Amino acid sequence: IPVDPFDLVIFGGTGDLAKRKIIPGLYRRFVAGQMPEDARIIGAARSELDNDGYRDFARKAIEKYVHAKNHDKDKVRDFLKCLSYFRIDALGQDGWKDLAKIIRKDVVQAFYFSVGPRLFGELAKRLHKYKIAGPDSRIVVEKPFGHDLESAKALNAELAEYFDETQIYRIDHYLGKETVQNLMAVRFANILFEPLWNSQYIDHIQITVSETVGVSGRGGYYDKSGAMRDMVQNHLMQLLCLIAMEPPAHFDPDSVRDEKLKVIRALDPVPAEDIVRGQYRAEGDQPSYIEDAENPDSRTESFLAMKVHIANWRWNGTPFYLRTGKRLRARKSEIAVVFKEPPHSIFEPQEGRRCNELIIHLQPNEGMDLRVTIKEPGPGGMRLMDVALDMSFAEALGEDAEDITDAYERLIMDVIRGNQTLFMRGDEVEAAWAWVDPIIQGWIDRGDRPKPYDAGSSGPEDALMLMHREGRRWREIT
Ligand code: NAD
Repeated sequence: IPVDPFDLVIFGGTGDLAKRKIIPGLYRRFVAGQMPEDARIIGAARSELDNDGYRDFARKAIEKYVHAKNHDKDKVRDFLKCLSYFRIDALGQDGWKDLAKIIRKDVVQAFYFSVGPRLFGELAKRLHKYKIAGPDSRIVVEKPFGHDLESAKALNAELAEYFDETQIYRIDHYLGKETVQNLMAVRFANILFEPLWNSQYIDHIQITVSETVGVSGRGGYYDKSGAMRDMVQNHLMQLLCLIAMEPPAHFDPDSVRDEKLKVIRALDPVPAEDIVRGQYRAEGDQPSYIEDAENPDSRTESFLAMKVHIANWRWNGTPFYLRTGKRLRARKSEIAVVFKEPPHSIFEPQEGRRCNELIIHLQPNEGMDLRVTIKEPGPGGMRLMDVALDMSFAEALGEDAEDITDAYERLIMDVIRGNQTLFMRGDEVEAAWAWVDPIIQGWIDRGDRPKPYDAGSSGPEDALMLMHREGRRWREIT
């Protein structure tokens, strides 16, 4: 079903994110018949380009980032007709009056802030000053949303001067993943899981987001941020919320976000012994973190593992282990819900047997599998084995995983539809910073130094111990 006609302005329309995600995503929605014919996409950035130059930029982005089987010359040509370009300066007055003239008042207006965070407030101010945005317009704000609680509050206040909360779409692309939404369906549309979804039946939950890349090329930015700010405060925290939240009364934006907020507010402070920070070492001709960051004294973590406790009735006694890092063994994002052993076993104890686990795969391939124990087939006696009930989408859909709607395109379509469910509310972001800030301050006060770890490993040895000391173990990063 096509969305309503819209004008979408991409500030930072010539940037990396526009090239890799936003333009290819919009093209795929166009091919899927979801973009109405008179939709308009307006790139706006500092570069000296004309409309043809921008279409050329977009065509190359599609060729590079959209699966070849979706390259249809006619479709690409028709899509490019929707595109135009305006040169504007987010810090000055250039281009704004011209932009104001062309934005239609009788269609959905969306403004995507795909620029550095220091420009968010500047764009909001100018959209207001030049009367480009109205009370129904929407703004999409990229990460990072603040650097700490104070800056996040300041940014929220700045945006609130010009836009109502219902107009602000703070994007966290993890929330746009098919599996993340499926997690809500699995939890709240089945009777099977929810009765077990508490500390009586769940031993612990692991959330892992591992990357193989280092920070080379963006070391300067990353060194001021680190894994806690770059990954945990937003992506891992959002996943944690969806796993841990109470069933909302309705599937509407504020009901869902109210429940997520309650989870963040119930997070206990994390003691120093429950956190392991790491920095990757050099490996062959690959530089170390210190070299990538060009800061020999850097104490910024490129790896973080922590044990988190949610202080409420449902989760008392069930730890959540979070782990994320760069230059690890494999690129993988997953959530593992590890259930307890049955209270009494009637079978012989058996080496290597696992408990029931629900694994939610987010990256590289999306899907879920549920590990259950059955009898090993054959006449070999009553031996047990673990099997996975595979719910991988690629198989279910009979297509390759490339075809699953990318998170960005889903989220952009939600903006046009005016659905904020999968976007972070201002109070959620502030609550997350309020939890993160004292942890970071503790590292500074103690002069904490990250532990070195080998590139291509699963992180520092101490991170393994975080689980081992309690008789648990991380799932392999493979
Ligand atoms: P980029 O540096 O590649 O692009 C920046 C864009 O902003 C360019 O189009 C540039 O022309 C424009 N710009 C810069 N200064 C301007 C000014 N004064 N006036 C008008 N336009 C100006 O950055 P990016 O990687 O595309 O990232 C954009 C935003 O998205 C950032 O907030 C970033 O943190 C976020 N983000 C990026 C990625 C990614 O994969 N690239 C992922 C997640 C979030």
